[in-house]
Amino acid sequence: MNYLNKKTGQNIVLEEELLFDRSHKGGYGIGLPKLDVPEVNYKKLYNKNLRKNKARLPELSEPEVVRHFTRLSTWNYAIDLGIYPLGSCTMKHNPRLNEEIARSSEICEAHPYDPIEWTQGHLQIMYELQEDLKKVTGMPAVSLQPSAGAQGEFTGLLLISAYHRNKGKIKKTIITADTSHGTNPASAALAGYNIVQVQTGEDGYVTLDSVKDVLTDDVAAMMLTNPNTLGFFEKNIEQIAKLLHEKDALLYIDGANMNAVLGLSRPGDYGADVIQFNLHKTFTTPHGGGGPGSGPIAVSEKLIPYLPIPRVEEKNGNYHLNYSFSKSIGRVKSFYGNYGMFIRAWCYIKALGGEGLRKVSENAILNANYIKSQLKDVLHIPVDGNHLHEVVFNDKNQKESGWDTSKIAKALIDYGMHPPTVYFPLCVKNALMVEPTETESKDELDRFILSIKEIVTSKDSSVVHPKRAFREKIDEVKAARELKLTYKFKDE
Ligand SMILES: *Cc1c(COP(=O)(O)O)cnc(C)c1O
Repeated sequence: MNYLNKKTGQNIVLEEELLFDRSHKGGYGIGLPKLDVPEVNYKKLYNKNLRKNKARLPELSEPEVVRHFTRLSTWNYAIDLGIYPLGSCTMKHNPRLNEEIARSSEICEAHPYDPIEWTQGHLQIMYELQEDLKKVTGMPAVSLQPSAGAQGEFTGLLLISAYHRNKGKIKKTIITADTSHGTNPASAALAGYNIVQVQTGEDGYVTLDSVKDVLTDDVAAMMLTNPNTLGFFEKNIEQIAKLLHEKDALLYIDGANMNAVLGLSRPGDYGADVIQFNLHKTFTTPHGGGGPGSGPIAVSEKLIPYLPIPRVEEKNGNYHLNYSFSKSIGRVKSFYGNYGMFIRAWCYIKALGGEGLRKVSENAILNANYIKSQLKDVLHIPVDGNHLHEVVFNDKNQKESGWDTSKIAKALIDYGMHPPTVYFPLCVKNALMVEPTETESKDELDRFILSIKEIVTSKDSSVVHPKRAFREKIDEVKAARELKLTYKFKDE
């Protein structure tokens, strides 16, 4: 066995076998001490549940496993390597200051069972984060518990359902829009609701009439992604909120795109009843392969009684956890949520301040619109309007040259860049959804723009990309349909 790349014969680029292929009998990573307590006959105890044959697992030492995964990690593309313009995902730089604070021993050696006198500082951080998120949204209460955007949505829907139930009403319908994120109808279905979807108008905004058409007494709430997935701020949002409230239906705002509106607009001012944050997008906590999510929610007065417990409260400079809310929906996450993410978000907010946060959004909008201005004559913009932090293009102009959305995306990999989001949002055919974020320099944006231009004007669209990545283009259908879930050892 050697480390030569089988294809190129080079040994700078390591080829990597499966751990199963590397397995050698007797290899182990952890040694246990000799038994010094009476032996228990587990076979007798668990007879029925014991497997017939020993599980065949790869047998390897710790350094072999560590090297395997470390080598694989160098195959990955990451935000720390270059632009990562995935629309809707907000892949932006994670400031190292956040990491420094989150990794300090005072923070990461705390235990959730530590007595309350020892954890005052931690509770203060959580309390301050809640207060800051209240300010950002203009809403009166926040729960930090949900651990992802989609769990924030689900929690919000549980609150909405508790609100109606408390009034003795069972409402079974949630309205969503075709410009909403896919998690919106998914969360609503998970919470037991029927879903009615409204189509956006030609101009990319939800119209009042389309909401009126489906707004019955059975509607518990409407879920709107704002800014929507076309990158537009829903201009009728205030009137939509009013319409809903007249029928005692609530307005859920998917706030994953808050990166575009920090300090510029507040959901509390236009009538939102619940909104979830994605701390891992807007507030720079690492995500994707880099860390767990965090999806706090902010709510209007109506929903406060139902918020999850425990809630962090302050009295005369002392912090405590309050569990006594009889109408609460209970817990949605163990302990208090993904605390490590709170630290990073809190640190980010404190470092930037209100003024800084507004600049974040202004620059995110500026960067997206710079890309739009440089590419609008190259790529078609199916629904044009006032784009905020992201722009949705498609491949209509490339019909003749054959550079379809998928080919453009794969070719970008050969330019050393992560492709944008493709074929989403669904309301745009063959979408290429670009969100550069505010943390890209003009140089990096220009490299991206130039790469796209070079790709779509190059003659041969029949060349299969990527060519220079560790793996050439993968047969996606085969990969999805013919899963290899078992492994045959050589000696079997
Ligand atoms: C990312 C995203 C979500 C889902 O958030 P997760 O943290 O991945 O669960 C929901 N809505 C929008 C608009 C998003 O961009």
